Amino acid sequence: MRVSQLLNPTLREVPAEAEVISHQLMLRAGYIRKAAAGIYTYLPLGWRVIRKIEQIVREEMDAKGGQEVMLPIVQPAELWRETGRWDVYGPEMFRLRDRHDREFCLGPTHEEIITDLVRGELRSYKQLPLLLYQIQNKYRDERRPRFGLMRGREFIMKDLYSFDRDPESSKESYRKMYDAYERIYSRCGLTYRAVEADAGAIGGTGGSHEFMVLAESGEAAVVFCSDCSYAANVEKAECLPRYAPEDQSLKEKTGEVHTPGTKTIEQVASFLGISKTSLIKTLAYKGDEKFFLVLVRGDREINEIKVNNALGPFVNLRMAEPEEVNSVLNCEPGFVGPVGLPKEIFIAADLEVAEMKSAVCGANKKDYHLLNVVCGKDFVPAKIADLRTVTPGEPCPKCGGSLKEARGIEVGQVFNLGTKYSEKLHATYLDDKGKEQVCYMGCYGVGVSRTMAAAIEQNNDENGIIWPMPIAPYHCIVVPVTLKDSEVVSVAENIYKKLNSLGVETVLDDRDERPGVKFKDADLVGYPLRVTIGQKAMAEGKVELVYRATKQTELIPVEQVCDTIERIVKEALSIVTCD
Ligand code: ATP
Ligand code: MG
Repeated sequence: MRVSQLLNPTLREVPAEAEVISHQLMLRAGYIRKAAAGIYTYLPLGWRVIRKIEQIVREEMDAKGGQEVMLPIVQPAELWRETGRWDVYGPEMFRLRDRHDREFCLGPTHEEIITDLVRGELRSYKQLPLLLYQIQNKYRDERRPRFGLMRGREFIMKDLYSFDRDPESSKESYRKMYDAYERIYSRCGLTYRAVEADAGAIGGTGGSHEFMVLAESGEAAVVFCSDCSYAANVEKAECLPRYAPEDQSLKEKTGEVHTPGTKTIEQVASFLGISKTSLIKTLAYKGDEKFFLVLVRGDREINEIKVNNALGPFVNLRMAEPEEVNSVLNCEPGFVGPVGLPKEIFIAADLEVAEMKSAVCGANKKDYHLLNVVCGKDFVPAKIADLRTVTPGEPCPKCGGSLKEARGIEVGQVFNLGTKYSEKLHATYLDDKGKEQVCYMGCYGVGVSRTMAAAIEQNNDENGIIWPMPIAPYHCIVVPVTLKDSEVVSVAENIYKKLNSLGVETVLDDRDERPGVKFKDADLVGYPLRVTIGQKAMAEGKVELVYRATKQTELIPVEQVCDTIERIVKEALSIVTCD
């Protein structure tokens, strides 16, 4: 491809709408353009990157016995009603009606459709395991579409669904996919980590892992152990209770204490001259219609995912509004506490709260707190569970080592679903004794378009994108510094043609531009290799090879440059390192 012909409109300015670097660079380097919030057009270079990621994904799915299919985007509401998810999915689902007023949605995910297919076609255990996948657009009307391809409303996903005879064989399918995912992200040239994850709305009880591309800008926080292989999303990471020393100054005092205007944990602690670890933090929640209180130690954060799993699941879990708190407890939120409440008010306490011996909590009375409160004596929680978010430095739940924190971008997730969908949709088969059995399922998603964004978040510098070779739109760009010197031009043409004939995907910057402009664009677009043909080096029969990632340059004799580049590219494409 010649750059003069390539639809690659680069921008010098950083577009104001783009907050994160991948979004900025994809716009500036001419990879994507916005059609509507969270909906993008891929320009030629953008689409090449997507197709490369898809191809890696496809090869790895096929290698594990996956069979590619194409499922409809437009899906009938009836199927979603069968699993109960038509009502549960909420406003994230794009819904529409046809001319006969029948309801449909644009697929946010495809468990229903695929299980419907399989229940119609599956007869015997001999057909199992069955691994079916597709690579296709998904539609989710995200509350906050943002960060370009990172959180779109239309995005590309690979989704594979596994159907197995029993839990053991289903686990085997899960393991295969886990391996495939390690290979996919390694082959894409990304630094990633697989972490234990919450199964969320997709559900299932058999466990789940997320694959996180590690990057400072990641929306997700993960913790990992420095001594063993434990790694988890903080949403999921198990917390061991850690008991803080009791505040001796409070031991002798009981009853109400006047704490005027102290609404936050910090204010109460500093007013009373005690540590936050001596306080009970009481927050009121609404889970659908249910009102309840959640208690954690004053220095801890409530983990709403854990709350939802322990007390729900709810379609809508949120903190109660001050008016709601007031109408139920007759008290403003800052002074709420668990003591002396009517029995029907449900109280859930974190494991650490259950062990606090002389705590301070709100008195359910404006400007007052209670001293020397003991869980089990002064109040009895209806539920005691791990309800808080882990913090770095805490002990690993597996080995006791120290947990470290990192930020990540979730580029894939695998779920062991059990029979959640197959039971509701009656996806069954006949076993070897002719008896009807329900399938065990798994589902496995790769965010293809998000992976493209994540790759840029992880690989960029002040000049632009630094593509890992396997997913670069082209491997190499050939830049003649002038079009006025016929030797320079003909050498550039020859290298360009030869490289393409060797299988090195190469573009030729044949524009009549200053070298500086060409170099800037090449760096911005992020071609891993650049060959510069300049008059000075040519006088010695040499051209310059520039590595985008390291900025390293080498002068290489013209006749050797193509073989050198071919070797570099082939080597980079063959590396698969799974840790
Ligand atoms: P998130 O928690 O980020 O909203 P999710 O857990 O709902 O994502 P899954 O249902 O697990 O997403 O989808 C599989 C993969 O699809 C995710 O791991 C992610 O890479 C990608 N993905 C999900 N939502 C989006 C989106 N709005 N835009 C781009 N990619 C997405
Ligand atoms: Mg997910």
